[in-house]
Amino acid sequence: MAMDTYMSLRVSSPDPGEAAVLRGEIERLDRLFSPDGENSDVARLNSSGKITADGSTVELLSRTLALCAELDGALDPTVFPLVKEWGFIDKNYRIPDRATIDSLLSRTGYSAVGIDGSQITLPEGFALDLGAVAKGYAADRCAAMLRDSGAESALLNLGGTVAAIGKKNGGADWTVGIADPENSADYIGYLSCSDRTVATSGSYERYFVGDDGKTYCHILDPATGAPVQGDIVSVTVVSDSGLLSDALSTALFVKGADGANKLYRERGDFEYVILTKDGVALVSEGLTDSFTLKNSSWRLEAVK
Ligand code: ADP
Ligand code: MG
Repeated sequence: MAMDTYMSLRVSSPDPGEAAVLRGEIERLDRLFSPDGENSDVARLNSSGKITADGSTVELLSRTLALCAELDGALDPTVFPLVKEWGFIDKNYRIPDRATIDSLLSRTGYSAVGIDGSQITLPEGFALDLGAVAKGYAADRCAAMLRDSGAESALLNLGGTVAAIGKKNGGADWTVGIADPENSADYIGYLSCSDRTVATSGSYERYFVGDDGKTYCHILDPATGAPVQGDIVSVTVVSDSGLLSDALSTALFVKGADGANKLYRERGDFEYVILTKDGVALVSEGLTDSFTLKNSSWRLEAVK
């Protein structure tokens, strides 16, 4: 259990202590990035507005800020005060009034985060949360450590962010399931992959139904300060980088199916499977050979 989720590490390595070393690294990152906890860089930054941070925090935050800009602000870790206000942290779910949302929105915006060497600063009233990218970063760290130690095969499942390293012992590609939004213990289909990281963000993971009967999920649109009410149920992103896959799974959810496709054509460094509210599995061109649909109540549509 780390980063608020269950994880499993399956490692084939000449060093029998390898999995324990990875576990230690994930726990170290969890302590740094946790929004509460005494030794957490993120908690210290949120309460004091200025910290000297660990190198991993600086690296993750600077790479995340660069992605926020590339993704037109669809990814923005400074939405955290709004995530809290909607009750996603204390699980006391509520719909804030417009004035409260507007007032908190005026204290968000990733460009206000300052990084100068190991010094990180936040303006008064701002707070951030790296929950959308921490698991992807941890997956990249673990993959790098495995490479350094000569391990050739591993499957790291960091709670919805899965790093498939090398091949299975038998030499076949790894198989990664995409959760069924209606029953997340089951899968709607499978991706076969090797040396890729697969990250999924879904509105079925954490949500509440408001007094108005609408469903509110834990991914917020930084432009409105409210949970995304788009056409997507889940987004799975496949790329060479855990951080990129994790960042994109959140950002594409905000952008919606059309915005996701536009970005796909522009960037060329990721593939995706988007499940829409209408029961369609939109599968990007590069995955058509590696994705197998298992649940026939979904309609598969290849997209370019
Ligand atoms: P999960 O943590 O369930 O895997 P995500 O990777 O999509 O899901 O991250 C969602 C978390 O990130 C939320 O719990 C919230 O704390 C934070 N968050 C919500 N909306 C955004 C956003 N637009 N940009 C960055 N972080 C966000
Ligand atoms: Mg994410």
